[in-house]
Amino acid sequence: MTCAPASPATTASEAPARLRVTIRGAVQGVGFRPFVYRLATELGLAGWVNNSPQGVGVEVEGPRASAEEFLLRLETEKPPHSSIQSLEATWLDAAGHRGFEIRASDGDGERTALVLPDIATCPDCRREIFDPANRRYRYPFTNCTHCGPRFSITEALPYDRANTAMKAFTMCAQCRAEYDDPRDRRFHAQPNACPACGPHLELWDADGRRLETRDAALRAAAEALRRGAIVAVKGLGGFHLMVAAHDERAVRRLRERKQREEKPFALMLPSLRSVREHCEVSVLEERLLRSPEAPIVLLGKIVNRHSQIVDSVATGNPCLGVMLPYTPLHHLLLAELALPVVATSGNRSDEPICTDEREALERLAGVADVFLVHNRPIVRHVDDSIVRVVAGRELVLRRARGFAPLPVTLKSETRNLKSEIVLAVGAHLKNSVALSVGNQVFVSQHIGDLETAPALAAFHRVADDLPRLYEARPQIIAADAHPDYLSTRFARQRVAQSPGARLVTVQHHYAHVLSCMAENELEPPVLGVAWDGTGYGLDGTIWGGEFLRVTPDGFERVAHLRPFRLPGGEQAMREPRRAALGLLYECFGEAAFALTRLPTLAAFSAAELRTLRQMLARTVNAPLTSSVGRLFDAVASLLGLRQVAGFEGQAAMDVEFVADTDAAGEPYELDLSDGVLDWTPMMHDLLHDIDEHLPPATLAAKFHHALVEGIVAVARAVGEERVALAGGCFQNRYLTERAVQRLREGGFRPYWHQRVPPNDGGIALGQVLAGSRALALEESSCV
Ligand code: ZN
Ligand code: ZN
Ligand code: FE
Repeated sequence: MTCAPASPATTASEAPARLRVTIRGAVQGVGFRPFVYRLATELGLAGWVNNSPQGVGVEVEGPRASAEEFLLRLETEKPPHSSIQSLEATWLDAAGHRGFEIRASDGDGERTALVLPDIATCPDCRREIFDPANRRYRYPFTNCTHCGPRFSITEALPYDRANTAMKAFTMCAQCRAEYDDPRDRRFHAQPNACPACGPHLELWDADGRRLETRDAALRAAAEALRRGAIVAVKGLGGFHLMVAAHDERAVRRLRERKQREEKPFALMLPSLRSVREHCEVSVLEERLLRSPEAPIVLLGKIVNRHSQIVDSVATGNPCLGVMLPYTPLHHLLLAELALPVVATSGNRSDEPICTDEREALERLAGVADVFLVHNRPIVRHVDDSIVRVVAGRELVLRRARGFAPLPVTLKSETRNLKSEIVLAVGAHLKNSVALSVGNQVFVSQHIGDLETAPALAAFHRVADDLPRLYEARPQIIAADAHPDYLSTRFARQRVAQSPGARLVTVQHHYAHVLSCMAENELEPPVLGVAWDGTGYGLDGTIWGGEFLRVTPDGFERVAHLRPFRLPGGEQAMREPRRAALGLLYECFGEAAFALTRLPTLAAFSAAELRTLRQMLARTVNAPLTSSVGRLFDAVASLLGLRQVAGFEGQAAMDVEFVADTDAAGEPYELDLSDGVLDWTPMMHDLLHDIDEHLPPATLAAKFHHALVEGIVAVARAVGEERVALAGGCFQNRYLTERAVQRLREGGFRPYWHQRVPPNDGGIALGQVLAGSRALALEESSCV
């Protein structure tokens, strides 16, 4: 099982680790720096701590286990009057720190006005809403300076009440007194509110008629969930669709209505204890669940006869995506229910999440039975973030609530241009945009696939909103090199409308690698391994199994997967059986059609096979691809795991999940010659093993191992010590952990993503880098 907490990447051969932590919140003037000093020296770690414009900055260096312990104890043992609103941890190469020092304040960093992300309810506020003696007892909009909405309610900077969605609510005398009192936890808490003066709840039927208000609305919503109803709940950054997770019929009805046939649903569980009843939870995973970011954490499912979570929540998936309540509304609702609920984003299939209650009535008509709404407007949509622990550390798969819009700070040496502003518009799937101001890159919240009109509208809003919020006029607009991406077209239009702005188009996989390099503060030269589903290649074919050597001037495609044809083009993206047929045809030519014993061939009708045969023979509507994602698809089909996928990446997940990591045996072989990583030898052995009826668990493991050995072979041939792993394929925990381990054993230094997604959600960051690199090169060649 790939979800087991094993992390083979943590081996003794590891070099000392350096951990950088940026802590935002009430951390200045409360004894935080002396506390950090004591903790670090107690653990024998070198490094430094300082106050920075953002809060407190720390670097510790030493044995990895000590640094991990430091990170956990930082939160659990922090000084009594401090509170952490955001904690960003990044693992970096050792810098050779000696001793531990409290450094002078870092006053000359960029003083860019920061918008904080939305922060999960703090323990003090939680206590108040469950205390019958407190005036905020059962009040769903309770917050303080340590917690509550930020990014999702901010209209403009500076962050003052008048610039937020709270401007319509006038504070009552008691709230005002708290707001004005420097000794109060609510001193200058912009969204401060109470039952007397703040927003309130209402329960509506599907026609928008009010059924209940205030606490009665909350109780009635809980009752509706208990009865099996689908409830649309307006939360922090948008609507959730909720349904009781133990109710098979209700969950299935939600699937049908949402047209989300097979995608796993996320869950909200009432407590950590409840999470432990259903999932394996490591110390790091617990930290993430309880963190101020409170993301969805992918956890290994415990098979439990008494489970309150039905299988159809995530069919055939050994993981569950789980989060804890993160607003007072969610705390109250889940406490009332005391049951796990499905909490999936409030939208229809691939549209962006709904934020407005009137709009929700329309867009979720026929999906939700009742609507639990409130009158605090949501200024911008923010989805739940998703993280997974990979190789012993956090990997963000979807960056939104809790993270957005925190900047990624670029290592200053990377940029010799301090003043330029780059707007990057991202890719097509899992779109996000990014804006650089000086050496800070603000990465937007997850927007989604630009496939529907509402998604495209959300993209336009965010791409215009981000520069407006930071009052920045982009000089460069960076976009994917794919000429037909809607994001690329948008970039072209904006450039045409903005005098002085220029367009820089960036090859997709180059952007993936630059993104990974930026996060790990790597300077070229680096060998980038960019493996994903699809990206527009420089030769017009579909790339996705690329090895790029990044140099100070650009990149060189030093190796790639041997290409094969995808009969049916676009349609082949959703049908693993077509990828498999293309692969077989490349291997065996016409003889491929005689392999009728394979599940791939059996999955087509005779008429379909005739058409596909013509496409392949005439190379009509059968584009070439070197995509590893499609290779995963093909293997899923050959192993009989999946012939038609319900969503992007599903077949690859099947292959990952079925792989038995203990399966013995030699990996399949890939052949490397002239920069082409050839899977032909593997195909012959794989077909042999299928004929021998070896279990798919073994075949899938041997396939993963073959890919990893392929990476090591290319790394040897290229001879770069540092290897950056990027692209959607590295969401696969087994592939990533094994690659990290084998590269280390081979004397290489592997790097992978941390706080920015390895999938196309990380593309915008890479595009920013490419944009400023292009400018830097021009300027230096003009000299
Ligand atoms: Zn609070
Ligand atoms: Zn009040
Ligand atoms: Fe990609």
